[in-house]
Amino acid sequence: MNKNSSHIMALTPNTSNKRETVCIFGTGDFGRALGHKMIQSGYPVVYGSRSTQISNLIPKDAEVLSHAEAAQKAAIIIIAIQRQHYNFLMPLAEILHGKVLVDISNNLKLNQYPESNAEYLAQLLPGSKVVKAFNTVSAWALQSGTLDASRQVFVCGDDVEAKQMVMNIVRALGLTPLDKGSLLAAQEIENYPLQLFPMWKFPIFLSLGLTAFFFFYCLALDVIYTYIYEKNNFSFFIAITIPNRVCPVMALILLALVYLPGIFAAIIQLYRGTKYRRFPDWLDKWMLCRKQLGLIALAFASLHAVFTLVTPMRAFVSWRTSKGIISQALNNKTEPLNNTNAWISDCYLALGILGFFLFVLLGITSLPSVSNSVNWREFRFVQSKLGYLALIFCTAHTLVYGGKWFLSPSAYKWYLPNIYMLSLVIPCAVLVVKFVLIFPCIDKPLTQIRQGWERNPKHSE
Ligand code: NAP
Repeated sequence: MNKNSSHIMALTPNTSNKRETVCIFGTGDFGRALGHKMIQSGYPVVYGSRSTQISNLIPKDAEVLSHAEAAQKAAIIIIAIQRQHYNFLMPLAEILHGKVLVDISNNLKLNQYPESNAEYLAQLLPGSKVVKAFNTVSAWALQSGTLDASRQVFVCGDDVEAKQMVMNIVRALGLTPLDKGSLLAAQEIENYPLQLFPMWKFPIFLSLGLTAFFFFYCLALDVIYTYIYEKNNFSFFIAITIPNRVCPVMALILLALVYLPGIFAAIIQLYRGTKYRRFPDWLDKWMLCRKQLGLIALAFASLHAVFTLVTPMRAFVSWRTSKGIISQALNNKTEPLNNTNAWISDCYLALGILGFFLFVLLGITSLPSVSNSVNWREFRFVQSKLGYLALIFCTAHTLVYGGKWFLSPSAYKWYLPNIYMLSLVIPCAVLVVKFVLIFPCIDKPLTQIRQGWERNPKHSE
């Protein structure tokens, strides 16, 4: 009987919804926005400020007191003040003893100070329990309610109970706490808001560099060469023709660069006979930004599709078509349908459409909302198997388009190959090596290595 009643007691919801008072030091932008959100979530809020005058900007249900008075009213104090002013807290050390201090501060530069702001606060007030949180949430997002993209709040601290208390507040505000461990993680958390697309830097710089190279390469061969040797002014090629040559080339090369590091990794593992040695740094970094490379490749492929769709609207294209018709009329001779050409053009288009479709599928499955809903095997199937299929289709699309020009001397202006020939080098190399790697005599040892087998185990008995 007693046992049962204790269960009933445990399941009875807590009828008093009263939340504990939270103190916020600082009535600046962040302090006000957070206070506003906390009051909405049912927390009584008391501000500690240098000026106890109530202003219109401060949430109307909040109290404003001196720092010492406010701190006495709460067990949790959020320090919404810049790090350089933390010294003012030292005379309050006694009042703040045993309290949970939440450090939300950010810096202006990466690794600006030798220690994180949270560790600095913990050094200043060793009697308090410092927790790092909220620094990746912006005051504007808190106030405007546009938190969809940044619901995660990274929390770290040495005192587990204090961390739990802060995580409970985070949850009550409708946000998602993410425990990052001890206060040692604070420096990393403080660096997050200062990072500018960290995973995108290499792919963006690489794409910009390659795009510029191919653009000027085409400009030289298609505009300058034609002007010098054929006296034709095709400078308008800069608007659509050249971009529509550069985009597919970039899409194909970047897609191949998504799969090239995997090939290098396989070769390195086969050579070393183990998977337990780290890859070189450059390869690690390259592997980490494959998704970004793939998404940029997809952007180039989409541009290529759009540029191709507008082709019939171009004045140059209609002029060339009507010129062909007029010359047939003048010669009173209709050119018969060239079946081979019709096959080539249809195959070329079909391969392009299939390649683009798979490209889009790869892009969609790389979205977190989609990748989170498939299991690891399904994700690998799409990204690896269908990814290689996309690479095969896109490479074949380029080969069919340019294949007939390979042996034609007119394709080598200034003895230079056309860019679609250059674009085929990396994809073909990736596909050939991949083909070799799937031979059973190579695939078997590679699979064993990836399952933990070692050719020369260090710790053999
Ligand atoms: P803010 O608007 O400049 O407010 C800072 C507040 O600190 C002031 O309003 C003032 O409050 C207090 N203060 C200023 N000088 C002081 C001093 N010498 N001694 C004691 N208190 C002093 O800054 P904020 O944008 O709210 O940012 C506050 C903290 O939150 C910073 O560490 C920032 O890195 C962090 N943060 C801000 C955002 C954001 O979106 N703004 C986002 C994440 C983290 P009183 O006048 O009431 O004393």
